[in-house]
Amino acid sequence: MPLVKLAENGQIIIPDDLLSELGLRPGDLLDLEPVPGAIRISRHISPDPPAVGISLQKSIARKNLETPIKFIKGVGPKLAEILSKKGIASVEDALYLLPNRYEDRRRIVSIAGLRPGVTAVFTGEVIAANVVTTKGGRRFFEVVVRDGSGTISFKWFNFNPAFLKKSWKEGKRGIFTGLVSQFGLQREVHHPDVEWLAEGESVEAVMARDPVSFGRVVPVYPLTEGLHQKTLRKVMKEVVDQYAPGVESVLPPDVAARQGLLPLNEALRRVHFPDGDADPQLLEEGKDPANRTLIFDEFFFLELGLALKRRGVTLETGIAFTVSHLYTKPLLKLLPFSLTGAQRRVLAEIKDEMMAPHPMHRLIQGDVGCGKTLVALMAALVAVENGYQVAIMAPTEILAEQHYLNIHRWCDEIGVSTVLITASLKGKEKKAALERVAQGEAQIVIGTHAVIQEKVIFHRLGLGIVDEQHRFGVIQRGLLKKKGENPDILVMTATPIPRTLAMTVFGDLSLSVIDELPPGRTPIETRICFESRRNQVYGIIRDEIANGRQAYVIYPLVEESEKSDLKAATQMAEHLANEIFPNLRLGILHGRMKPEEKEGVMRSFKAGEIDILVATTVIEVGIDVPNATVMVIEHAERFGLSQLHQLRGRVGRGSAKSRCILMAGERLSEDAEKRLRVMESTTDGFKIAEADLEIRGPGDFLGTRQAGIPDFRVANILRDGRILEEARKEAFAVAEKDPDLRLPEYELLRAELLRRWGGRLELAGIA
Ligand code: ADP
Ligand code: MG
Repeated sequence: MPLVKLAENGQIIIPDDLLSELGLRPGDLLDLEPVPGAIRISRHISPDPPAVGISLQKSIARKNLETPIKFIKGVGPKLAEILSKKGIASVEDALYLLPNRYEDRRRIVSIAGLRPGVTAVFTGEVIAANVVTTKGGRRFFEVVVRDGSGTISFKWFNFNPAFLKKSWKEGKRGIFTGLVSQFGLQREVHHPDVEWLAEGESVEAVMARDPVSFGRVVPVYPLTEGLHQKTLRKVMKEVVDQYAPGVESVLPPDVAARQGLLPLNEALRRVHFPDGDADPQLLEEGKDPANRTLIFDEFFFLELGLALKRRGVTLETGIAFTVSHLYTKPLLKLLPFSLTGAQRRVLAEIKDEMMAPHPMHRLIQGDVGCGKTLVALMAALVAVENGYQVAIMAPTEILAEQHYLNIHRWCDEIGVSTVLITASLKGKEKKAALERVAQGEAQIVIGTHAVIQEKVIFHRLGLGIVDEQHRFGVIQRGLLKKKGENPDILVMTATPIPRTLAMTVFGDLSLSVIDELPPGRTPIETRICFESRRNQVYGIIRDEIANGRQAYVIYPLVEESEKSDLKAATQMAEHLANEIFPNLRLGILHGRMKPEEKEGVMRSFKAGEIDILVATTVIEVGIDVPNATVMVIEHAERFGLSQLHQLRGRVGRGSAKSRCILMAGERLSEDAEKRLRVMESTTDGFKIAEADLEIRGPGDFLGTRQAGIPDFRVANILRDGRILEEARKEAFAVAEKDPDLRLPEYELLRAELLRRWGGRLELAGIA
């Protein structure tokens, strides 16, 4: 009996194979019925008319795409296993495994006409084949081939001599394919592809025999380790020929026409086996109409799901706040500065949405130090003015405490009550705090995720604010929402996320960007430093501390080798304490310490009782110690750029000039150095994020899959930003026109949407 687990958010995830066993499909509605000792699950019999005619035919086509790859001609059990290890289990998987490059094999070139840098097809006769040993003792296998126009040499560097000697014999004729390179005067091809000609056989006959590999632009697939390109190509040809024609376009025809898209089946065929007139370079760069069609299709369904989700939220009724300025005005008067233009603009966006009778789901994005907290507090006061409570959640105790200290200082003066709730709150104190929340005496409740625990009951929650979004899953956001009756939700993140990515990750939230720092900040000076200058770096630290400042020394902590890194960090701390800075006060902070210990150290550092804080990356985003003016980051090359940017944001928080020194290993690769130079050249979080995203790809970018970043099959979020914007526009227009996708013309669209989104569309109210 297969086991199905109930997830923490109350969802039941039924694996695909079990679904098909039960005769269910994603998107089906289920009835749950308690029976003695169990719950019976059965398919809900929909009052909707049954799918007939055209949709039946389409659902058969759909079924076909689920055909296991092992049923394809030429795919035996062994090949099926190799393919499934690479994520190719079904015909559909195969159709969306796109070539990463193409070889132009339309023409046979003469050997004299071979040009370096070009992959070409040519014929000839083997005139020599030998193992060659260089003066330096390196061995390679060399073959010389001749046609009527000239000769060229082939080389193998890792080779099995017996195997090569057997197939490469003088006098044999073949059709060769390979990338031509040039060394000095000599042109050569490394590891060419070969198709041998039998005695007396003509080139034309062989090419006609294998139309998959010759006389056309030929696809070259990724993931072929342990697998011959030629084998995979044959499998793909079979898949494309048999199954691509059955793939139906379900995009609304007017959208497809406006966007100049090809039929989906046509696009699939063309990217795999391009027509005679195709330009392989356009295909490789993703600019052929076939690429555009597939990319648009992928983005469209993503954005349509997001659009409906968002509409699902805005269709709910929520609180319509009014703005009375009862508390916000006095707060502004109290501040020793005025809001920046960006803060004012974002605040206006928030207020507008709070006044609307639907729940707000908004993301405030802004670089470290841009003043998000203050904007959030202003929003909180609007809710308080309306007699509602506000919950503010931070990912760690120390951050929650810092928010509490900042906020309650101001709130005390304007007569708004605040309370801090964390896991370390115990006994009587805790009881009293919870009581104040339940009675509604506490107007602003600040805390860690302790705030969303069952025991915390709000009197009247109107607004939930979540700081540092990417630490909180969507689930927590949902729990916070359940603490009130459709409260507004405001999410703050300091991770600068390139616009296109934000549109996909947080596409169901509306976005406000604070793109301006308060005046008077002195920019942080960033320098890469090599080992040889370590003593100078220590000198800088000494000078700063002599001026009454504090310093951070950061150590990377890589998960797999956590123990040894930890050792490195503690040894470093000891070394610094005993030999380098014997007269200074050092503290250490690492992930293995208990939360209370960490808090203690952080508090001492904030209080100025520690001069140098040696830390692994546990120093959290958002920690504010304005007196710290130097940060030295050891093994900087091991960090992602966005992470370095976040770390660097811990200094430069006061008016004094701050420095960030990136220590790099001597054997820094050219790429790694180029990457680190980005940090020297800019402090613009968005530019850094874009460079980072380009290097690491969206999956790693936020460090967690749980962030809900989709894996794109064909799209590349950086390259295809323009198509994404178009797809979003079209998808949102469809959602606007028919939010439930109930129009007959959208029947297929709706089915396909549900299939692609699985169970992730509850809020949209269409699933
Ligand atoms: P973030 O949370 O966006 O990283 P904070 O809200 O912690 O930034 O703000 C950083 C510092 O800047 C705080 O000390 C805050 O009081 C101050 N600050 C906020 N807004 C302004 C402003 N408009 N002018 C000057 N200082 C500001
Ligand atoms: Mg902050």
